[in-house]
Amino acid sequence: MYWKRTVDQERSRMVQKGQIGDGPVLYWMSRDQRAHDNWALLYAQERALVLEKPLAVVFCIDLEYPAANLRHFAFLLRGLEELQNTLKNYAIDFHLLQGAPDNILPLFLEKTHPALLVTDFDPLRIKKRWKEKVLEHCSIPAFEVDAHNIVPCWLASNKREYAAYTIRKKIQQQLPRFLTDFPDLQVHPYVSAPASIQPVTVNTLLKQVKDKSVGEVDWLKPGEKAGINLMDDFLTHGLHSYSTDSNNPCLDGQSNLSPYFHFGQLAPQRVAWEVEQSNATRDNKEAYLEELIIRRELADNYCYYADDYDRYSTFPDWAKRSLDEHREDVRPYLADLETLENAGTEDALWNRCQQDLLQNGKLHGYLRMYWAKKILEWSVSPEEAMANALFLNDKYSLDGRDPNGYAGVAWSIGGVHDRAWADRPIFGKIRYMNKNGCKRKFSVTEYIKR
Ligand SMILES: Cc1cc2nc3c(=O)[nH]c(=O)nc-3n(C[C@H](O)[C@H](O)[C@H](O)COP(=O)(O)OP(=O)(O)OC[C@H]3O[C@@H](n4cnc5c(N)ncnc54)[C@H](O)[C@@H]3O)c2cc1C
Repeated sequence: MYWKRTVDQERSRMVQKGQIGDGPVLYWMSRDQRAHDNWALLYAQERALVLEKPLAVVFCIDLEYPAANLRHFAFLLRGLEELQNTLKNYAIDFHLLQGAPDNILPLFLEKTHPALLVTDFDPLRIKKRWKEKVLEHCSIPAFEVDAHNIVPCWLASNKREYAAYTIRKKIQQQLPRFLTDFPDLQVHPYVSAPASIQPVTVNTLLKQVKDKSVGEVDWLKPGEKAGINLMDDFLTHGLHSYSTDSNNPCLDGQSNLSPYFHFGQLAPQRVAWEVEQSNATRDNKEAYLEELIIRRELADNYCYYADDYDRYSTFPDWAKRSLDEHREDVRPYLADLETLENAGTEDALWNRCQQDLLQNGKLHGYLRMYWAKKILEWSVSPEEAMANALFLNDKYSLDGRDPNGYAGVAWSIGGVHDRAWADRPIFGKIRYMNKNGCKRKFSVTEYIKR
């Protein structure tokens, strides 16, 4: 059969050598939960075509995943339900296993004897640990593909970057090579003997979710198609004023695509490509791509190279020194986790931000900074601030538990990717934000009333 290599081989790397098995090529999908515009799936298909093997996808749903609750599982599972149907149209089997991958995947590999294993890249600790453990039990060749970043994380930089200005050039130099359109997924010509595959039964799985205290959101539809629709809507209506409107929480100036990126239901590269092809002005394109490419890929770089990305120890030395000098400063107001969680602080703007998180699962990007910096101001220590901010962000944000969240909180509280500012009480040299700053940017009264 004729086939043409369409995936840049630099997007993948071999993570284990081994003997090719006699079963299908298997893509262990984890971070990138989509059928289209997925370099890991395309790579797996390419390998399967060369080997003349069937292609299968396996996803392990771990209902004990840290900080995940009904809000997150519903978005994820409804996306998988759609994905399963899409893959069927391409003659690609989809297996959904229940449990942590390091527990259940080795047995599945033993039973199915895949030819080889392909998986997607994720810089978070738990995902790295899963991968290491699965590979310990795996004797077939295994490959990792970065399907989330435009420039594969390990190629963008080989070290933890100091700030956006240190990674920007490295990424930009490689964009002409990596920022391309995607090839189409093909209907797979080699099929397995009919496997008895359990369909994804979302409602049964949702019943088993232990933490149902945080409900589903109704303003955003999960799934690959909904992600593409929202992208189209943003390209038509939002991109043209992004550089002026995106920092005003009273306007609908952001794309709201982060939940789709987080669950891998939409490829950042698809959006970047469409933005480049659009007729928006250079200013708007550049402003959006700075966030979508540079800031997002910097966050992946941070988590990949700093294993303590969610702890105080990760802060730069100047920030730790300065925060240490201010440990004993009098805090005129303190808010413990319960007060924060219940949006019961002395600050009406902050409470409104927290209510957005509670109800909508998303807080405007500009206010996320204010929200986190107030937590530093009201906590007995920066360690407590970091822990409380991450707890709330991960629990309530639909896009939480993401490298962007770890980088965003560490930026706000610990000066990660930032520089030292004028010294002041409690904050030391960490960049300060207050309500007057917000008032200069937007109508605080209007936002609170919304
Ligand atoms: C305290 C704090 C917590 C945060 N928590 C999260 C989180 O849990 N999950 C999350 O995805 N983002 C987080 N961010 C980063 C940023 O605020 C969100 O990515 C953005 O608001 C998402 O909304 P959007 O898709 O409408 O953004 P848009 O403005 O439309 O931007 C498009 C995309 O660019 C990327 N992006 C935008 N701003 C940033 C940024 N500052 N850093 C990295 N990437 C960025 C995101 O992928 C985003 O989807 C946090 C930031 C801070 C300061």
